[in-house]
Amino acid sequence: MAVKLVLLALALSQPPVERLLQRMTIEEKVGQMTQLTIEAVSGVHGTASVEQQLDSAKLDDAILAHHVGSLLNVWDVAIPPQKWQEVIGAVQRAASRTRLQIPIIYGIDAVHGHHYMVGATVFPQNIAMAATWDTALVRQEHEITGYETRASGIFWNFAPVLDVGRQPLWSRFFETFGEDPYLVSTLGATAVRAEQRYVAATGKHFLGYSDPLTGIDRTTAWIPDRQLREYFVPSFAAAIGAGLQTVMINSGDINGVPVHASHEILTDLLRRDLGFNGVAVSDWADIIRLNTVHHVAPTRKDAVRMAVMAGIDMSMVPDNLSFYDDLLALVKEGSIPVARIDESVRRILKLKYALGLFKNAGPDPAMLQQVGSAQSLGVSRQAAEEAVTLLKNDHGILPLAKTARVLVTGPGATSLVDQYGSWTFTWQGTDTAMYPKNVPTLLDAIRKRAPNATYVAGPAAVDAARSADVAIVCLAEPPAVEKPGDIDDLTMPEDQLQLARAIEATGTPVVLAIFHQRPRIIRTIVDSARAIVTGYQTGPFGGEALAGVLFGDVNPSGRLPFTWPRATGALVHYDHAFAEEAPPVGYNPEWEFGYGLSYTTFAYSDLTVTAGDTIRVSVTVTNTGQRAGVDVVELYTRELYASIAPPVKKLREFRRVSLGAGEKQTLTFVFPKSRLAFIGRDNKPRVEPGPFDVLVGSLSARFTVRTVR
Ligand code: BGC
Repeated sequence: MAVKLVLLALALSQPPVERLLQRMTIEEKVGQMTQLTIEAVSGVHGTASVEQQLDSAKLDDAILAHHVGSLLNVWDVAIPPQKWQEVIGAVQRAASRTRLQIPIIYGIDAVHGHHYMVGATVFPQNIAMAATWDTALVRQEHEITGYETRASGIFWNFAPVLDVGRQPLWSRFFETFGEDPYLVSTLGATAVRAEQRYVAATGKHFLGYSDPLTGIDRTTAWIPDRQLREYFVPSFAAAIGAGLQTVMINSGDINGVPVHASHEILTDLLRRDLGFNGVAVSDWADIIRLNTVHHVAPTRKDAVRMAVMAGIDMSMVPDNLSFYDDLLALVKEGSIPVARIDESVRRILKLKYALGLFKNAGPDPAMLQQVGSAQSLGVSRQAAEEAVTLLKNDHGILPLAKTARVLVTGPGATSLVDQYGSWTFTWQGTDTAMYPKNVPTLLDAIRKRAPNATYVAGPAAVDAARSADVAIVCLAEPPAVEKPGDIDDLTMPEDQLQLARAIEATGTPVVLAIFHQRPRIIRTIVDSARAIVTGYQTGPFGGEALAGVLFGDVNPSGRLPFTWPRATGALVHYDHAFAEEAPPVGYNPEWEFGYGLSYTTFAYSDLTVTAGDTIRVSVTVTNTGQRAGVDVVELYTRELYASIAPPVKKLREFRRVSLGAGEKQTLTFVFPKSRLAFIGRDNKPRVEPGPFDVLVGSLSARFTVRTVR
């Protein structure tokens, strides 16, 4: 009796996760590591969301018979909140009938708002959010998204993308916060903190996914260790520092090693060096693909062994129970130690506890009241307005007079799909029937402001342009993501360039307004255009925001979060080495990272810098123009000499400043000397002593770093 009591006391003194783990069978453990798509447990597969439903026999087979611990995704199209709550309710009821009553963790892609729920707030894509350089706004976006996701009963969001956009051909470039590791780290860590007020966030896709050599999705990246740590690790390190709860893995390979099978990346780097102790989930079918696509695993079972031993905790299988069967067999035959399984299950259970799923895994109908509120929509509108970036404005042709005779043409004028981009109501975002009816297109928004505007589609627009005061040519890159979005030429579709050239040839001033998901080459139409403005993919308020800028209701403040190349072969980033500047080709992008104009002008003065353990920079910014505006002050440093050929400049700080006409403000930036570190020849961060310049606009000031850390 006494012994029993001691044992009981001992058991109770253990944390709940350990107690639960001890009670679990190996089958229950393997089930926790298995994630299925909702389609694997569904019945009717019609085209309309209302026809889709869970199949209770399949659900019971997965959850009760195979102990599956996680589900994901939607039946391709967005469903109403009530339907989400029904689905999640049914899933959790099934889980509550299991022996140990371990709740299911349901995951979804809510990557620019909870776009798989009808009525949720949809935001601009990440690339456009990055163009705002507005950390507070990114925080608000992700608080709203986390809240609305949680309101539908879902506790896990597969966002944010922390991949750094270094390969503009890549079909998921628009999902990144751009090309600079510091900008991506700052906005990414902010998104993680904000999401995790309500749901678990996912840093994806660890690691190097965004840099396939050819630009083709899910293919080989050649990334030496030094560059991996210099460009791709920082955003994940920052997010882990912000408490990131889960990561998703790169579907491609680095230097020939598929990341799903890389112990070096998934354990040595992620766990040992970066200190990540959350859950690592595979991407879609990527464990099986070690066998079927990458050919590093001779059998499906080998693939499971490799991935689990490399460090994956959960397999997004997603449409069958093969992972469960294979993993169970591997453990039973002794090819995978139970201790390795326990490690992953412990992480998964900890996550479920941390999210409060054991207390209340059900949907919370009260939360639905706030979904898609006017306030949330206001944040989306503000984001679109702040993102729009003015790239050219010869002789101040913009803003246009509302009384002007305006001709509007081009595919971007009338297409909501181009304005929102992929991951909108469906995976590719191209199902027009799913779009709300009352959202203004760019043409609607132009007409609202300029009642005399006429719209002519196709080649007939060329003649119509002759009698107009100005022609707004609305270019658009048709959205597509992942494999369907693969391209082999960065040039904008030729028919659109031809249309713009023909209209430019009429002599009527041309304004180019663009929706796009990557920096598409438009060289042949840039010089003759009088003004160019980009709306990236800015969501429901994209048309309004672009038109607002064209007609002066909005003073543009967006800045490019990437280098816009001039030619398809000139993919040089802003933080290139000095050697890239040499003629005859040199560094000569269409527009540089950080570029963007305003309807007012700003001047910088009094740049000062002091350097010790911290670097302190101050600079005065003055609005020297005629109207109020927002400037994004970008602070770069340049190291003159280093043991690795240093970049010509690196972004270290940035701040948005709102100034009335004639107004000025002195800004102070303080940052630790360690921010000047680069990854050295030993693949470790180092700060080297010597002269540096701090650069703000065209000003520079020299400082010296005296001691090595
Ligand atoms: C994508 C991930 C996404 C997952 C689940 C994959 O194809 O690469 O980013 O989270 O699907 O939908």
